[in-house]
Amino acid sequence: MKTIKHACTLDCWDRCSFKVHVDGDRVVKIEGDKYHPYTKGFICKKGGMHLDRLYSEERLRKPLFRTEDGFTEISFEQALDIMADKLEHYKGKYGSQSIFHFEQWATGGVSKCVEEIFFNFMGGITESKGDTCWGAGIKAQKYDFGNVKGHNLKDIHNSKLILVWGRNPHSTSVHLMASLQEAMKRNIKVVVIDPIRTETAKKADKFIRIRPSSDIALAMAMTRIIVEEGLDDKEFIVNYTYGFDAYKEYLLSLDMDSLVEATGLALEEIKSLAMEYASANPATIYPGYGLQRYRNGVNTIRAIDALAATCGYIGCEGGGVNYANRLYPDILDLDPYGSAKHSVNSRSFMLRDFSDALENLQNPPIKMVVVSKANPMNQLPDLGRAQRAFSNVEFKVTFDMFMTDTSMLSDLVIPCTNTLETEDIIYSSMNNPYISFNEKAVEPDDILMDEYYFFRELARKMGIEGYPMDDKLEYLEKVVKPLENYGYSFEDLRNGYVTIEGLSVAWKDKRFQTPSGRFEFVSEKAAANGLCAHPKFIPGKEESGLRLITPHHKDSLFSQHFFGIEGISKAFVNPVELLKRGIASGEAVRLFSKAGEIVVQIIGSEDVPTGIVCMSIGWHKTHGNPNFLTCSCSSEQGEQMAYYDTFVEIEKI
Ligand code: SF4
Repeated sequence: MKTIKHACTLDCWDRCSFKVHVDGDRVVKIEGDKYHPYTKGFICKKGGMHLDRLYSEERLRKPLFRTEDGFTEISFEQALDIMADKLEHYKGKYGSQSIFHFEQWATGGVSKCVEEIFFNFMGGITESKGDTCWGAGIKAQKYDFGNVKGHNLKDIHNSKLILVWGRNPHSTSVHLMASLQEAMKRNIKVVVIDPIRTETAKKADKFIRIRPSSDIALAMAMTRIIVEEGLDDKEFIVNYTYGFDAYKEYLLSLDMDSLVEATGLALEEIKSLAMEYASANPATIYPGYGLQRYRNGVNTIRAIDALAATCGYIGCEGGGVNYANRLYPDILDLDPYGSAKHSVNSRSFMLRDFSDALENLQNPPIKMVVVSKANPMNQLPDLGRAQRAFSNVEFKVTFDMFMTDTSMLSDLVIPCTNTLETEDIIYSSMNNPYISFNEKAVEPDDILMDEYYFFRELARKMGIEGYPMDDKLEYLEKVVKPLENYGYSFEDLRNGYVTIEGLSVAWKDKRFQTPSGRFEFVSEKAAANGLCAHPKFIPGKEESGLRLITPHHKDSLFSQHFFGIEGISKAFVNPVELLKRGIASGEAVRLFSKAGEIVVQIIGSEDVPTGIVCMSIGWHKTHGNPNFLTCSCSSEQGEQMAYYDTFVEIEKI
């Protein structure tokens, strides 16, 4: 029996560190590394499920090629030949932009991004811009701070008040949840702001239920009250910010009654929260990603940033707006071969235009799609249309471990390695500030199953000039070489726990990466991009019906963990809504929107307010996937799919 070091590759805030126990050639157990300063010995159920996925009976072990008779198993050599042939064909006939690469971050290893290097060396292709996950908030913080940084989680205990805003760490970030519980034991107050009474809300000191998409109204109303009460941090504002007076003038011009009404709260409640926040000194905010999945997503996060900056809770211990922490992409050398300069022929379209682009893009049209680290035919909105558009593309390739909803619609499906079968570098751009090296626990059935070697072999076969023939370890060593500037070697990373300690309080030096070098209440960059220069109040969308909210399930991330679950998906609604419609809790019902319809089991729950249907994403087509209902609208300029601006109705079957 041996024990190896590994870290969770799921697209999660925590990127936990594992101890993986291997008996002979078989992994027998995964557990949290009790000596790891962030993981502290505990992980969630999803982490343990890497093992189920490794040995799943449903796992693909050979490439599949679609023929007239359906899918046929082929060898990796044949898959390489077909892939090379198709890439060369479409590049030769239509140009390389006729090839569209769709990727997300379903598995977070650095080496799993090798396709980007491959397509750069191929001369550039078509990609999508915009995001299914966090894009609006990232854009917002780039306008305000110039970059996206968060505090080390242990700094939370320097706060006097913690606002958990539209986030449910009980389900999505077990280490933040543990820190909140520890904070409460230390008499640090935790307030949860959310439309849904989540498990986190139930455990907090206080729960404030606001209307969905009114977070912007709450942030602006609070800021205005703080300014009117003279509780703004004048010294911080004068020394480290830009554009405060213009933003203040804008706030004072807003109709306070409209802001208050939008939130669904009483003015006194907002006042009390504003005063508590301003006088906490310091207070921290942990916003989630749900609150930017509306058409006002960028402005919502900008308004929350502005609230914190007004109180001077930026760059200080116990402060911050901890949306994410993009620490390592700036430090690592993720393109050590300078592949980007070969990408002379690339183009992009906004993700909200996915179906349109696949159907109508010209000069050249999209002829081939390559999907990696993603399941777009499960996760994109308005799935009925997206599936039709995807199906009509001439040739589709998907890399995956399973026959997902996307694999099913592809022409070539190429199995990839499980994280336990490959070395990699893992870092979080969210909570965990540690970077990890993943040792290989077991050998895969065939070395070509690993994407790193698949693309290297493909490049060799296609004669792509200059493509690096390094082994994976050589490549990873080059990626982490810049860590030497912080005193860490590759060996340190392989053997120990590595983090950049000096960066544990975001913006401590108050040197912001904006054009003015200050925190920007007014951003000329935002204005140049066609947005209002300062955060602008955009009211939530109103339509008839019930708003559909689709957060992550505690036991599944995106679509990765509901394999093998029998039956239909579950949706939750306030019992009042069931009563109105004469429907009993537990019944199977038709849930429909302008985009489509599904059948779900509807369950009455007081945790969900009236006017909302709440169901988790991750259900497959066979269960009833809520993305057949979601609209393909986006936040202000397409940075983020506005999933939560979907309205549905329930009908008895
Ligand atoms: S908390 Fe997140 S990173 Fe940790 S094991 Fe669970 S899914 Fe993986």
